[in-house]
Amino acid sequence: MEKTTPYEGSDMDISVRIRRTPFVDAHEHLVEEEARITGMTDLFPCNDWSVLFQHYIDSDLLVAGMPRENRERLTSPTAEPYEKWRAIEPWWPLVQNTGYGLAVRLAVELLYDIRVFNGTTVKLLAERFQQRIQPGYYRGILRDAAGIESCQVNSLERTFMTTSQPCLLMQDISLLDLHTPEGWQSVAKPTGITVRCLAECHQVIDWWFAAYGPYAVAVKSQAAYRRSLDFEDIAAEEVEAPYQRMLNGDALNSQDRKRIEDHLFWYGVRKATEYDLPVKLHTGYLAGHNGMPMARLAAGPGEITDLLARAPDTRFVLMHIGYPYHEAMIAIAKHWHNAYIDMCWSWIINPEASMAFLKGMILATPRNKLLTFGGDYIAVEAVVGHAALARRGIALSLSSLVRDGWLSRSAAIELIEPLMRGNAHRLFKLEALQPRLASAPWLGTPRSGQASTS
Ligand SMILES: [Zn+2]
Repeated sequence: MEKTTPYEGSDMDISVRIRRTPFVDAHEHLVEEEARITGMTDLFPCNDWSVLFQHYIDSDLLVAGMPRENRERLTSPTAEPYEKWRAIEPWWPLVQNTGYGLAVRLAVELLYDIRVFNGTTVKLLAERFQQRIQPGYYRGILRDAAGIESCQVNSLERTFMTTSQPCLLMQDISLLDLHTPEGWQSVAKPTGITVRCLAECHQVIDWWFAAYGPYAVAVKSQAAYRRSLDFEDIAAEEVEAPYQRMLNGDALNSQDRKRIEDHLFWYGVRKATEYDLPVKLHTGYLAGHNGMPMARLAAGPGEITDLLARAPDTRFVLMHIGYPYHEAMIAIAKHWHNAYIDMCWSWIINPEASMAFLKGMILATPRNKLLTFGGDYIAVEAVVGHAALARRGIALSLSSLVRDGWLSRSAAIELIEPLMRGNAHRLFKLEALQPRLASAPWLGTPRSGQASTS
């Protein structure tokens, strides 16, 4: 972090300032530190160095041709390090220069001081990886190694994670859980409310906001993985009957299902707005492989503008720059007062596109419309690589704008603080949230069990 050499190809003053400025990390899926120490999380089949290769680089490896059984060997809880290395060896050279591959290589170098990952160094990586996992290591990795002051976590395990480190791992409420019709039992269980009708489903949503709204940083929905963002504003009376039928055990037809979900989405968005919480939406590229319907992605920007128009008092955070429709996102951020664009995940999807996007945003939109970083990882170690890659991308982008005469050096330097942390502080009102989190009511008490629909 405290190096004083410039990022290669970038301005010295800009580089130094970027290295010294902490990120507010607006999006992660980190599991609790205790779960990593004990290995008690279903999100990883094993808890060794290979978690660095399970999310997202495994997709590049599979797309490059790696067989599925090799992925299973890679994630096996019993395979030896060298055996795991052999599972990826033929495909690793094909993917190590992608954003996903670069983030892994940077994490391995910065955290474990291993410059070249291969069959000779894999055992050393395995040992050093394990040595690091001990109480307090999240803080060491996020604050000291990645230069991150706080993260915003969208838990994939709970609707709201009552984290043991709320000031470091701020949490989203999973709007996805609340608007998924079939998820009603798992979200109702912790509330103690018996759901016999739509009104009681509303009470369940109200409960989540009453209990955790004051301690949440935002609400988040990744519904775009399975549907369009064409959420219609459907009145309760119109979906009461099919909702009742679903509670009685009938299967929903796709039309009724959509109408119920649309209704619940808007119910949740209005609650979030009442609690002054921004609404984060997945937009654009889909994780995984062999399953991305591009026609649906292409329709996203148009559907988003309908949402923006329908809820002028709601702050929408449009995640992942809508890649590959990021140019449309610049137009949206420029035109709509309630649209904010989050570069979470984008630096590793396509670093070059992310630099072009950042420069376009700086030259086209008010500077408060942009958040520049979110690692979007489940494994905390991988965040270090992504943060380093993002800092380099920001340094190169700003240096290029200065070099080409679009910005003065001092104007570029002035942009660094708001882009890396200040915009997030204001958008998520972090100064007001932090003292509430420091004395969160669940600290020191055990958690109640709850499954998630996501
Ligand atoms: Zn995510």
